[in-house]
Amino acid sequence: MTTINHLIDGIESVGTSGISKPVFNPATGEQTAELAMANVAEIDAAIASSQAAFEQWRHTSLARRIKLMHAYRNLVEANADEIARRLTAEHGKVTSDAQGEVARGIENIEYACGIAEMLKGDYNESASTGVDVYSVRQPLGVVAGITPFNFPAMVPLWMIPNALATGNTFILKPSERDPSAPMLIAELAQQAGFPPGVLNVINGDKVAVDRLMEHPDVKAVSFVGSSPIAKYVYETSSSHGKRVQALGGAKNHMIVLPDADIDLAADSAVSAAYGSAGERCMAISVVVAVGEVADPLVEAIKTRMQNLVIGDGTDPASEMGPLITAEARDRVARYIGEGAAAGATVVVDGRAASFDNDGFFLGVTLLDHVTTEMSVYTDEIFGPVLCVVRVDSYQDGVDLISNSPWGNGAAIFTRDGGAARRFQTDADAGMVGINVPIPVPVGYHSFGGWKDSLYGDTTMYGPEGVRFYTKAKVITSRWPDPATSAVDLGFPQND
Ligand code: NAD
Repeated sequence: MTTINHLIDGIESVGTSGISKPVFNPATGEQTAELAMANVAEIDAAIASSQAAFEQWRHTSLARRIKLMHAYRNLVEANADEIARRLTAEHGKVTSDAQGEVARGIENIEYACGIAEMLKGDYNESASTGVDVYSVRQPLGVVAGITPFNFPAMVPLWMIPNALATGNTFILKPSERDPSAPMLIAELAQQAGFPPGVLNVINGDKVAVDRLMEHPDVKAVSFVGSSPIAKYVYETSSSHGKRVQALGGAKNHMIVLPDADIDLAADSAVSAAYGSAGERCMAISVVVAVGEVADPLVEAIKTRMQNLVIGDGTDPASEMGPLITAEARDRVARYIGEGAAAGATVVVDGRAASFDNDGFFLGVTLLDHVTTEMSVYTDEIFGPVLCVVRVDSYQDGVDLISNSPWGNGAAIFTRDGGAARRFQTDADAGMVGINVPIPVPVGYHSFGGWKDSLYGDTTMYGPEGVRFYTKAKVITSRWPDPATSAVDLGFPQND
C-alpha cells in the first residue's frame, strides 16, 4: 500500500507521527493509499522551513517570480491529464469534470503571471513642498491554506499562485480524503523552480490545522470548507492575531420565473444539481419555481434525470460519479427519507438506483413541494438531491434567498431583462447568475459568498486574493530642494 507523506523543503518528508488515515477510490470502495497525519513537531518543521525560505523569497525580483509562475503554469497544463486522473481516482468526479477543475485552477496561475500589474503602487508627487507620498504592497510572510475534499486541485490553486507571486511562502494542508492531486500540484511547483520551502505541504487533520492557527510565524490563514469549521477557523485564527478568510458551505437557490426558457432552465438545473454528485459549493440545491412554471419545469427536470449516466468517473460514458465516502452516501440517503417523511413529494428517488459494485454510489433525487421547515431545505446536504420550492411571486423567491443563512451563489432564469437586472440588486448572495446556474467568477474577478458562506471580509483569488496576501505601506518622503543643497548641482534658485 502506497503511503502519501508530506513535502517539506522541496523533498518528500516521511511521516513520523505513526498516525495515518486510509484513502479510498470511491468508485470501487477500495483503499488505495495510506496518508501520513502530521504531528505538531512536523508542522513546526514545515513552518520553520517556510519562514527560512521567506527571507530570500520576499527579495526575489518580480521578474524572476513571474518567470517561475509562467513555468509553473506550463507544467500544470502539461500534467493536466495526470492531475485529472488523480482527481477521479480519489474524489470520484468524472474525467471531463476533473479536467474542467484543472482548467479553472490554471486560470488562477495565469492571473498571477500578471502580478506586476497588480503590485503597482500609487504615487502623489509634491503632496507638500518637497514631499511625495506613495504606497506599496508587501508580502505577509508564511501563509497557510486549508482546503476541502471537493476541489482538491482547484481550491489550492485559488490560493497558491497569488500568495507566491506576491512574495509569501505557503503551507498547504489539503483534505485528507483526496491528497494525491494537491501533492502533484506542489511537486510541479518544485519542478518549475520555486525554491525549496516556498511551497510546503503537510497532510493531517485537526491537529495540523490547530497548530497552523496558533503558531506565531503563520501570518494568515485561507480556509475553504464547511460553515462550522470555517467559523471555528475564522474565530481561532483571528484570536491569534492572524489575517483570515474562511469560506464556508452553501445552499444555492435558482429562481425560475414563468417567462423562462424551460428547456434551458431544466438543463441548467440538472447539470448544476447533479454535476460532481452535488458535491460543489456552487451546486444548485433549491429550484424556486414561480407560479405556473412549476409543473412543466418539474416534468422537464424529471425527464432529463432519467437519461443521466451514473458510473465510474473513468468511463467516458459516465456523467456523474460516486459520493466521496460511504458515510456521505448514507447521510444523503437519510436526508431523502427525512424529506419524504416530512411531506415532500419524491419525484425521483436516488435510493432506488442499484449499482453492482462496492463504490459509494447513490442515484439522483428530485423532491417537489419542499417547504422551508424541512431538513432537506434547512441543511446543506452536499449530495445529488434537488429540492423544488413552489412560490407565488418573484418577491417570495427573493425572500427565500434573503432568509437563508448562506449566501454563496444565487441564480435567476428569465427572458425579462428588467427582472434580471432587479435580481442582481436584490439577491442576498456574493455571486449571482443570470440564466447561468453556477456563476463561478473568472480568475480576474474574485470568488466568495456572503453570510455563513464567508467568514472574513476578503474573498478569494483575483484582485481580492492579492489584497489578502499583501499589506499596504504608505511612505511619506521629504527631500530638500536641490537648489538649497550644500553642493552646487547647477539647479536654479527657488524664490
Ligand atoms: P470540511 O469543513 O470537513 O473540511 C475542510 C478542511 O478542514 C479539511 O482540510 C479538513 O481536514 C479540515 N477540518 C475538518 N474538520 C476540522 C476541525 N474540526 N478542525 C480543524 N480543521 C478541520 O469540508 P469538506 O467536507 O472537506 O468540504 C465540503 C464543504 O466545503 C462543504 O460544506 C462545501 O460547501 C464547502 N466548500 C465551500 C466552498 C466555498 O467556496 N465557499 C468551496 C468548496 C467547498
